[in-house]
Amino acid sequence: MSTKPKMVEPPHLVGDLKELKLPSFVQHWERLAREASRRRQPHAEYLADLAHQELCDRHERRVRRRISEARFPQLKTLDNFDFAAQPALDRDEVLELAKGDFVDEHANVVLMGEVGTGKTHLAIALGMACCQQGKRVRFTTAAELANLLVESRAADRLSRRLEQMARYDVVVLDELGYVPFDKLGADLLFSFITKVYERRSLIVTTNLPFARWNEVFLDATAAAAVIDRIMHHATVLKTEGKSYRLREAKRARSSKARRDRE
Ligand code: ADP
Ligand code: MG
Repeated sequence: MSTKPKMVEPPHLVGDLKELKLPSFVQHWERLAREASRRRQPHAEYLADLAHQELCDRHERRVRRRISEARFPQLKTLDNFDFAAQPALDRDEVLELAKGDFVDEHANVVLMGEVGTGKTHLAIALGMACCQQGKRVRFTTAAELANLLVESRAADRLSRRLEQMARYDVVVLDELGYVPFDKLGADLLFSFITKVYERRSLIVTTNLPFARWNEVFLDATAAAAVIDRIMHHATVLKTEGKSYRLREAKRARSSKARRDRE
């Protein structure tokens, strides 16, 4: 004989719950009802548990959706960032940014440093933290965005595309400076930056100091205007040292050599 009391499913319950879009109620009502009856749990508490489950699951689904919409090239978090490898970086400042207040203030983050020093990792990790808070994030390289805007303009869809990109709370513009834009690409990226200025947040990664941004935006006036807008409300984080990848590879090689000798 089963020790589990059988719950009688009230007519319409599951149909109604589905129509109300309460999938976690559908999934858990029976198990929690069984538990409630075993523990003689008050009805109000049962309802509260079920509602809380729905809310937690909804939060989790939303975070997962935000992360997938963000199109991060890899998933990186601050937990697996080795701050000891970046002693010049203020860990507390980075953790503070991860709380996401800069997004509510429509401020920006600029990550500046040589190749392989963890800029993209940090940009993704900050973006992921924003997704956890339910913010809408989109990751793109600067070159990709410039190309996208050029293509949209050719298809007579520029303003729609700009609107669409400006709907994100945070846009990560990775690798500004790796590839110079052509004149049109530079102009359109400038339009985008102007459009989101003081309305949205940018996380920019770049290998170039500000003094060299004119190489990307092709002329000094355009570069100054971009820097002016981005830097009006911004935190600059500088990453230093040798490429983390090369260091890791070197470390792996030397520990292998040590093992081979032993
Ligand atoms: P950048 O964008 O500055 O060129 P990346 O962020 O792509 O560098 O880093 C290169 C690789 O090294 C990535 O796999 C990244 O996760 C890793 N990495 C870089 N710095 C660190 C760090 N301090 N801690 C952990 N991983 C790091
Ligand atoms: Mg990078």
